[in-house]
Amino acid sequence: MNEHFDIVIVGGGPAGLTAAIYARRAGKSVLVLEKEAFGGQIASSPRVDNFPGCYGVSGAELAERLFSQAEALGARVELEEVLSIRTGAPHSVTTDYGAYTASALVLATGMKHRTLGLPGEETLGGVSYCAVCDGAFFTGKDVAVAGGGNTALQDALFLSDLCRHVTVVHRRDAFRGDPILAEALAKRANVTLRMNTVITALRGETALTGLALRDTATGAESELAVDGLFQAVGQQPQTALAAALGLTGADGFLPAGEDCRTAAPGVFVAGDCRAKAVRQLTTACADGAVAALAACAWCEGR
Ligand code: NAP
Repeated sequence: MNEHFDIVIVGGGPAGLTAAIYARRAGKSVLVLEKEAFGGQIASSPRVDNFPGCYGVSGAELAERLFSQAEALGARVELEEVLSIRTGAPHSVTTDYGAYTASALVLATGMKHRTLGLPGEETLGGVSYCAVCDGAFFTGKDVAVAGGGNTALQDALFLSDLCRHVTVVHRRDAFRGDPILAEALAKRANVTLRMNTVITALRGETALTGLALRDTATGAESELAVDGLFQAVGQQPQTALAAALGLTGADGFLPAGEDCRTAAPGVFVAGDCRAKAVRQLTTACADGAVAALAACAWCEGR
């Protein structure tokens, strides 16, 4: 007989851990399953200045605090990878270690930023995926933004208020992002747009010092000295489990309204893997609270 929980939460990032905190405070038995490290993407952020009440905390410390809070409130937390889910009454969850059943599920599997796949991008200091999170560290410095979508354009605008110079490197001759953003960017004196250009290598020993570039139209190679690179080349939701249940949309995210209910009865979604406009630490936590309370109501037949 598999161990049963009122609520099994898949994913131990801010959304999942917040869901655990709320569900435990509502008196439910809770299991959080995380495949890698608790804290999700925020755990790798050097400093978090935009989480209310936690100014200047490191991402790792914030992740530890969330984890400790969930555990102190009585949530069971396990480092196990969920391999499959079968929905029903109860739902069944199989991991690489065991199997569980749950009255309600919260899917908080987050997402990963797409990367350029260049050697050094995981290890060099100065490579970031979040201008809002890390931009302040580059105040007065020279940075580049890779990408041509709305995220890249918004990031470049945001960074141009902080940095000495911002170079946008985009692989095509036209932006995918909104023209109004591209027009605003073109007016900034400290912004250079390098269209038809790809980044072929990152320079630097321990911290980024520059980029090797290639013009795709002319083939010309060049070097660009920068202190930071913001990769904004799209995002990939981690929703293979939900996709197997037929719960994802064409873009791979889980469609659900502000009530965090998915199309499957008793299955809720929280955080960055939910289809929504704003993906921030605060909105992930907000989703966690909403999804947990909806899951609690589901357990009580409400
Ligand atoms: P996106 O729209 O998918 O744009 C990704 C950009 O990265 C594209 O310009 C793409 O180039 C480029 N790219 C992808 N892979 C690349 C590679 N290997 N090498 C170089 N460049 C690469 O992603 P996003 O900007 O993160 O936006 C995601 C969604 O959120 C979009 O629907 C966007 O409109 C939305 N969003 C909305 C707002 C808003 O305020 N409304 C703000 C941010 C994001 P190509 O264009 O050549 O494919």
